[in-house]
Amino acid sequence: MNCIGCGYCCTNCICIIGLTDKVTGLCKFLMWNGERYMCSIAEQYSKELRIGMGCDFPDNPYRKEMLKQKKSKSRHVKTG
Ligand code: SF4
Ligand code: SF4
Repeated sequence: MNCIGCGYCCTNCICIIGLTDKVTGLCKFLMWNGERYMCSIAEQYSKELRIGMGCDFPDNPYRKEMLKQKKSKSRHVKTG
């Protein structure tokens, strides 16, 4: 399954390269770009982070919700 940037993996388990923010408890490198979550150090560590290798948690609730919202948004755009 493809990664859609729901953020489930990084918010539930910080990888060995990640750093925990003491206030939020989330990884300091996790960013929301207005449409999806992204890892801000992904380019430097693409191999180690398996970027582009697909999603290991395709049935997670965040991903399902994001897909639902994307479908509803695209339906809204088509019908005006
Ligand atoms: S859980 Fe899957 S879809 Fe969501 S950000 Fe991680 S890899 Fe991407
Ligand atoms: S370093 Fe990147 S891949 Fe690792 S937990 Fe943080 S945001 Fe996710």
